[in-house]
Amino acid sequence: MTNPQKFLYPKTIDEALEMLASPDSCPIAGGSDLSLQKSTSFTTFVDITRLPINGIIEKDEFISIGATSTFNDLDHPLVKNIANGLLSSAASKIMDTPLRHQVTVGGNIVGRYWWSSLPVVFLALDGKIVLQSKEETRTLTTDEFFEKRPVHIMSKNELVTEILIPKEVTNYYGDCQRFSVTEAAHSIVCIATSFKKESNVCSNVRIVAGNLIRSPKRLTDLEEMLEGKELTQELIDEISQEAGEKLEKIRNNEIASGEYRKEILKVLVKRALEGALN
Ligand SMILES: Cc1cc2nc3c(=O)[nH]c(=O)nc-3n(C[C@H](O)[C@H](O)[C@H](O)COP(=O)(O)OP(=O)(O)OC[C@H]3O[C@@H](n4cnc5c(N)ncnc54)[C@H](O)[C@@H]3O)c2cc1C
Repeated sequence: MTNPQKFLYPKTIDEALEMLASPDSCPIAGGSDLSLQKSTSFTTFVDITRLPINGIIEKDEFISIGATSTFNDLDHPLVKNIANGLLSSAASKIMDTPLRHQVTVGGNIVGRYWWSSLPVVFLALDGKIVLQSKEETRTLTTDEFFEKRPVHIMSKNELVTEILIPKEVTNYYGDCQRFSVTEAAHSIVCIATSFKKESNVCSNVRIVAGNLIRSPKRLTDLEEMLEGKELTQELIDEISQEAGEKLEKIRNNEIASGEYRKEILKVLVKRALEGALN
């Protein structure tokens, strides 16, 4: 953020969208990413934290999470009910306490990096992302939203206003496991899983890997191994051994080698499936 000239504080979404129509403006939420950026393309920052998009409420068949809710806000009774507390427990383990009070859900999924964790969890929960511009409101599935980088999915003057989690998922089994050098450091592998279990048979299985590339990825080969089956320790061992085998090459990064991360991936898949069961 090397050239900030103006900060604007809209109180309504319409007002914010009007301000974002200007080519030199961009939204700012927690500011933890923008404040580190060196780009000078934007000079006007539209602070969206005063908009009425920070609540967590029930809405028809969904739990709606406002885009400016912080990681800390996810410690909420409605969120704790989702898939064994998958989302609230994941959010409570990422970053340190001051950052968890600052970083927003919307900022984490739009300002996406290889270490971003919430995209992994939202994809596992089969959520929806609501986007609003002056022209339209559109709702994308997480499969659509996380398929490509945000710049290829959203227009510059579009805001993420809420994330919708289907209430049905509330009764699912789920777990999130991440690995980082220290608790507050960027995670180098993250796994989230959720599935329905009826009469011991698993269905609607999602196993998502993140932090390996910029966007989270469903491990569909592993999902198929579990779909329609009973989750036994034997099957967990089998699935975790296959983890990462069908992924394109996992690259080395500044913290760990690709080979090391692949091994960690296997361990985390095992822990996440065991965690979901317990
Ligand atoms: C030391 C450190 C460690 C971190 N570790 C992790 C980690 O392990 N895992 C993890 O997940 N995150 C981690 N983060 C947070 C992550 O890197 C980003 O900084 C954070 O997610 C950005 O959120 P924000 O609310 O501060 O967004 P901002 O900095 O305000 O914005 C980020 C981008 O998103 C856009 N934007 C924000 N909100 C919206 C919206 N509602 N609609 C449209 N566009 C929007 C902005 O225009 C900007 O381009 C870490 C951050 C730090 C500083």
